[in-house]
Amino acid sequence: MTADVVIAGAGPNGLMLACELSLAGVRPIVLERLPGRTEENRANGLVGQVVRALDRRGLYERLSGSAEPPRPAPAFVFGAMPLDLSRLDDNPMYGLAVPQRRIEQVLEERALELGVEIRRGHELTGLSQDEDGVTAEIAGPEGTYRLRTRHLVGADGGHSVTRKLCGIGFPGVTRDDSVSRGAHVTVPAELIDPVTGGLNVPGYGPIPPFMHHRTDHGLFVYAPFPTRTLVNATEWHQDGGDQPMSLDELRESVRRVLGVDLPFGPPEGPGPHQLRRLSGGNTRLAERFRDGRVLLLGDAAHVHSAIGGPGLNLGLQDAINLGWKLAAEIHGWAPPGLLDTYETERRPAAERVVMHTQAQSALIAPGPEVTALRVLLTELLRDERTTKRIADMMSGADIRYDLEGTHPLTGRPAPDLVLETETGSVRLAELTRTARPLLIDLTPDAALAGALDGRRDRVDLVTAKTSQAGLPTALLLRPDCYVAWASDSPRPDAKEHDTLRTALASAFGTAR
Ligand SMILES: Cc1cc2nc3c(=O)[nH]c(=O)nc-3n(C[C@H](O)[C@H](O)[C@H](O)COP(=O)(O)OP(=O)(O)OC[C@H]3O[C@@H](n4cnc5c(N)ncnc54)[C@H](O)[C@@H]3O)c2cc1C
Repeated sequence: MTADVVIAGAGPNGLMLACELSLAGVRPIVLERLPGRTEENRANGLVGQVVRALDRRGLYERLSGSAEPPRPAPAFVFGAMPLDLSRLDDNPMYGLAVPQRRIEQVLEERALELGVEIRRGHELTGLSQDEDGVTAEIAGPEGTYRLRTRHLVGADGGHSVTRKLCGIGFPGVTRDDSVSRGAHVTVPAELIDPVTGGLNVPGYGPIPPFMHHRTDHGLFVYAPFPTRTLVNATEWHQDGGDQPMSLDELRESVRRVLGVDLPFGPPEGPGPHQLRRLSGGNTRLAERFRDGRVLLLGDAAHVHSAIGGPGLNLGLQDAINLGWKLAAEIHGWAPPGLLDTYETERRPAAERVVMHTQAQSALIAPGPEVTALRVLLTELLRDERTTKRIADMMSGADIRYDLEGTHPLTGRPAPDLVLETETGSVRLAELTRTARPLLIDLTPDAALAGALDGRRDRVDLVTAKTSQAGLPTALLLRPDCYVAWASDSPRPDAKEHDTLRTALASAFGTAR
């Protein structure tokens, strides 16, 4: 074998997987058909539980430029309806406004630090597989060549060549009834509301910042990011045309959506600046995420509307889910079926995103019936529990993996812990940066160490105390920081030791 894992695609998800594999002791080769990092910017931010997941790898700090832990956002939008999250006790909606270009840069820097080989200008063009591995055919700058690998992961985007080469279908729908135009612009200072940071549009009224704003004629967004301002207008049943996009075209679209002129000028400061027209969109889910030794990741496995910004919340967590399982397979200790749980765990997460982005797309469309539905939903959203359910869904906090065990935390992401260890006070997010499985023993007698006999090469033990109330006395965490087992007993009995051993075996294989 030339490589343990070949990843096709150095987008955010391929790079994240490369980092996860490296942390788990596997050196992947990443193939990227583009000769350099793309100038195109898609995402303007990260939304949901992925922000906590990145904190748990030390990447939040790099992306936010702050040593402070992430905090949930006090407000968000669902289908252009405001969500007041400030009322929630346990607000799951984390967010980080950072352009996708920067996310890719940070992930690439991290991957290179970890020793990942990234081959730019190398395009996957063919593949064949047998019982032992995959042969990838690649077109590189110096001609075509073959690379033998034990596993190949297609992180090559919505038009995935990997998916097509494996004959995996991509059923779903293509909509062509909307046109969305967006650009970085400069808005006259006198239109900016000093209190809300939103706009006061003459003849129209106030428009809050960062909120989808629905009118009878379309959808408008004003997003004053720290370094540049984005204006976006979406219309239905309108031909986008094929002429190059211009600021004048955006101005006309904004006039149709708001019914008045919004005077804005070209963006200031260094580019690249966005000037984009997108027509229609796809919602599709791969028939399967795995074909033998080939796996699909991120947009290669699922595409959907960008409304609410759920793409990277889904894809980066796919990568974190897949990385340790693939590494376990390569190291030879994966229990039977572990790699298949990548799909059984992540497909429902993707299905949920498909569902709520379609629901939101329906809620922003024009028409009196839609307006009536929005009135009804706005009433329902006054109920805190409804807001919480929507926030849990959008952030991915309602995902529970089907793991054996009765503790309410089993199958859920670990809570944020602050632990008192021999070396001082530490946040859980600082202990999980190595992506190693952890048994956290908070029992007064530190009685659980013995359960790790025969697996100490795979699972680390943390013995600690905590003053936080309402926490379990012991937790077994997978590398993706999901709880594989937990106990509330100060002195776990023989039965609990047994359930811990069962959880260890089903996640991390048999003891040596
Ligand atoms: C307009 C827009 C706005 C968005 N806004 C948000 C947002 O605010 N928040 C959010 O979370 N998500 C957002 N998304 C979604 C997000 O951008 C995608 O989910 C994300 O880019 C998917 O990452 P990926 O790594 O799976 O694929 P991609 O980013 O598509 O990367 C795939 C990579 O594979 C390479 N490649 C393709 N074929 C081959 C081949 N044969 N061999 C080698 N390399 C290959 C490509 O060059 C590319 O670099 C938005 C998307 C769009 C279109």
